[in-house]
Amino acid sequence: MTLRIGQGVDVHAFADGRKLILGGVPIPHPRGLAGHSDADVLTHAVCDAFLGAAGLGDIGHFFPDTDDRYKDANSLELLAEVMRHVVRNGWKVINVDATVLAQAPKLAPHMPEMRTNLARTIGVDASCINIKASTTEHLGFAGRKEGIAALAVVLLGSGSDDS
Ligand code: MG
Repeated sequence: MTLRIGQGVDVHAFADGRKLILGGVPIPHPRGLAGHSDADVLTHAVCDAFLGAAGLGDIGHFFPDTDDRYKDANSLELLAEVMRHVVRNGWKVINVDATVLAQAPKLAPHMPEMRTNLARTIGVDASCINIKASTTEHLGFAGRKEGIAALAVVLLGSGSDDS
């Protein structure tokens, strides 16, 4: 079996008058994230991890922020499109692990729904998806609540797995 790992990293700044969407879940918070799409930083990092593992480039290449089709786009739909490319290239998803770096809000209550959304969009059992959240102990842009960062790794496999 051939294995391929991919990583994804994304950052979005907080902005007034925006909804906060993470993993496709609207999260109650005074500010949301700025972006051309819904600015779902977690889902964007996961998209880039898949594109990286599959050797398909990056999210900016697939969904340019100069393209009006992606204005306020639901990022789960972007991930679904990424998955069509991944599957068409013969890859099976082994697992996804992601970390959201945010000083606020508390994300633990929303983790089950975020995990369910990602698993359904990726087309795997929720047990293949892990999402973690961490503060940065008030350090850096995330710690100053200027924005949220997300990191993800994905493992893909192709071919026989009975070796
Ligand atoms: Mg992004």
